[in-house]
Amino acid sequence: MHDITIRGAGVFGLSIAWACVRRGATVQVIDPHGPAAGSSGGIVGALAPHVPENWNPKKAFQLDSLLMAASFWREVDAAGGGDSGYARHGRLQPIADPHLLELARVRAGTAHELWQNHATWQVIPASGADWEPVSATGLLIRDTLSGLVHPRKGCASLVRALAAHGVTVTAEGADEGATLWATGVAGLEQMNAGHHRMIGAGVKGQAALLQYDAKGAPQLFAGGVHIIPHQDGTVAVGSTSERDYDSPDRTDAQLDDVIKRARVAVPVLADAPVIARWAGVRPRTRSRAPMLGPWPDRPGHFIANGGFKIGFGMAPKVAEVMADLMLEGVDAIPDGFRVEDNL
Ligand SMILES: Cc1cc2nc3c(=O)[nH]c(=O)nc-3n(C[C@H](O)[C@H](O)[C@H](O)COP(=O)(O)OP(=O)(O)OC[C@H]3O[C@@H](n4cnc5c(N)ncnc54)[C@H](O)[C@@H]3O)c2cc1C
Repeated sequence: MHDITIRGAGVFGLSIAWACVRRGATVQVIDPHGPAAGSSGGIVGALAPHVPENWNPKKAFQLDSLLMAASFWREVDAAGGGDSGYARHGRLQPIADPHLLELARVRAGTAHELWQNHATWQVIPASGADWEPVSATGLLIRDTLSGLVHPRKGCASLVRALAAHGVTVTAEGADEGATLWATGVAGLEQMNAGHHRMIGAGVKGQAALLQYDAKGAPQLFAGGVHIIPHQDGTVAVGSTSERDYDSPDRTDAQLDDVIKRARVAVPVLADAPVIARWAGVRPRTRSRAPMLGPWPDRPGHFIANGGFKIGFGMAPKVAEVMADLMLEGVDAIPDGFRVEDNL
């Protein structure tokens, strides 16, 4: 008999399983498609903050989670001997015009207030280095909060950490103990079917990997594209955002456009070969925020869904609040993140 059953082995399910195992619970993880078969099996992995202004519970939760990421991934990697590819080398963004420059300077002040001494947001002159985005003003925003993880490798590392504690991901099994549903888009569709209003839906994204070694350099956000220098000598570029799509996993000309925009924004990538193309479907709730908590009218069942575009950034803190709730009965879920908020 297990204390906890986790259904869904994406980054939410695996991270929550890990948080429960760390607290001494007995856990089983069930996923008919295997680990990282859904949107967590991707390649981008930006752990990047929202802009530091108009503070709200989602931004505060995300800040906590980004600050937890280093110790979370370090411990996961150490437990199973995996390599999540986590690093925190900050981010550079070009400043296109005087209006954006003014905004960037205001945000430097609000970041100081909101992020306190944890990280900075500064306007700096471009240095002309190869690994920099083209900037019309010659100025860049540099923040030191942004980190990155390799999504597919991060999930593999979580699987190894769990295995080191005797937990393997199985294709089927019966509910035992408290049951958590971290079933991504399939879970949202299941909930939609039982309600008169839409609770959530999938938003497809496409991304590519380029062969270019910028390990240790800051990530870039330029031309509307995340450009992520992974620790393994590849660079991920992404992503499209498609509400309407025919095939959930096929890539097409929209990805060619993303690659083109990345090459224009960062000329040093002009000849970098494309070594992989990938598409997945992000679980997005109606409120766009994560959806966490007990499953209403289903005693003993819980939900963690709605990671949408920042599921990897949110996972360390989502794991802790769900372990608090399921194992200790402590409810630390912020307003706006509750299951009821989306019903
Ligand atoms: C192109 C793209 C780029 C992205 N970039 C970033 C980024 O840069 N930074 C970031 O933080 N996030 C990013 N994301 C978002 C992030 O990947 C998601 O938020 C995250 O993967 C969601 O994790 P999840 O565990 O909730 O869902 P999923 O990973 O989709 O996992 C759900 C799992 O449930 C399983 N399942 C389904 N039905 C059942 C069932 N009945 N029983 C058991 N298991 C079931 C599935 O097989 C699947 O493995 C990106 C996503 C995409 C698609």
